[in-house]
Amino acid sequence: MTTMTATPCIALVSEVLDLGYLAAAFEAQQPGIRLRMGSTIEALGPLDEIDAAVCWFAPHGLLAQLPRLKLIQSLAAGVDHLFADRDLPCAVPLCRVVDATMAAGMKAYVTWAVVQQHRRMQGYLASAAAGRWEEQPITSPLRYRVGIAGLGALGMACAQALAAIGYQVRGWSRSAKTDLPNGIVAFHGDGQLAAFLSGCDTLVCLLPLTLQTQGFLNADCFARLPRGAHLINVGRGDHLVEADLLAALASGQLGAATLDAFSREPLPADHPFWRDPRIVVTPHVATRSDPAVIARQTLDNLAMVQRGDRPVHQVDRERGY
Ligand code: NDP
Repeated sequence: MTTMTATPCIALVSEVLDLGYLAAAFEAQQPGIRLRMGSTIEALGPLDEIDAAVCWFAPHGLLAQLPRLKLIQSLAAGVDHLFADRDLPCAVPLCRVVDATMAAGMKAYVTWAVVQQHRRMQGYLASAAAGRWEEQPITSPLRYRVGIAGLGALGMACAQALAAIGYQVRGWSRSAKTDLPNGIVAFHGDGQLAAFLSGCDTLVCLLPLTLQTQGFLNADCFARLPRGAHLINVGRGDHLVEADLLAALASGQLGAATLDAFSREPLPADHPFWRDPRIVVTPHVATRSDPAVIARQTLDNLAMVQRGDRPVHQVDRERGY
């Protein structure tokens, strides 16, 4: 249990989710904790008591109205939802959740998505539905190449899981990596992007959404992949240029896509992605952060800030992630 000097007051703020599910985890970490929940000034008041805000799509401008705020905590790995707020207080430390539970969920999702395409599971599902005993071509994982764009907390976890199966794994990041685990080849920067992409039978996007990575999954990127490659987007919807994906699938440059994040969520019922048999859509469920971890990291970070220490998993505002 986290030890603190005074009972903190934590605001759980979201325009799109009911964050009530986090209350029990905070209470378990610190009995008697003061929690405020909502997405309006009225729901959160009195505002000058709030020490920290745990956010998932907070209304823009709201955090700037919390005079005592010492910590902004994203309840997930991504912070693009916070940077979208032009009035985000610039002097308050901004942190994200880094969580083994979340990494485990992402490893499971990405491994499933790679295997279902590599082992042609959709073909088996069609055969099974028709009662036909039919083999699909079999390629060993040792000869199947998976590339992960974004070799951070989640990307590296996925890379290691896939390498443990035997896939040929490569990763791409902004900065050069040293001391890589066995079986993972690393590329970095714009200068090595083309070389990275040319060896991806499946490309996994696990980049953060920043000004630099927005629209990364575009026609130019697809043209550099081997013909017929499979795309997995578990980053953000705005990494993908949707029209370019549809064109690449239509031309055969891409063979399939597994998509978990979309520019507009929920994906509208009339969106063409739903109807394309080469696209598997999941509703932004690749993984979740554990409420106990969110509560613990928030309270620990607040205690660190109050002591004058640097909190963990603080976001670099210059880099945007
Ligand atoms: P990290 O910050 O740990 O890792 C980000 C990686 O991307 C780093 O390797 C970083 O490079 C690289 N990167 C950033 N910018 C660039 C760039 N311009 N060019 C090349 N590489 C770049 O993030 P996480 O692994 O924790 O999370 C990644 C993303 O996954 C989140 O931001 C979120 O959007 C998404 N996500 C999706 C979920 C879902 O359910 N679909 C759930 C959780 C997260 P470097 O190592 O050099 O810094």
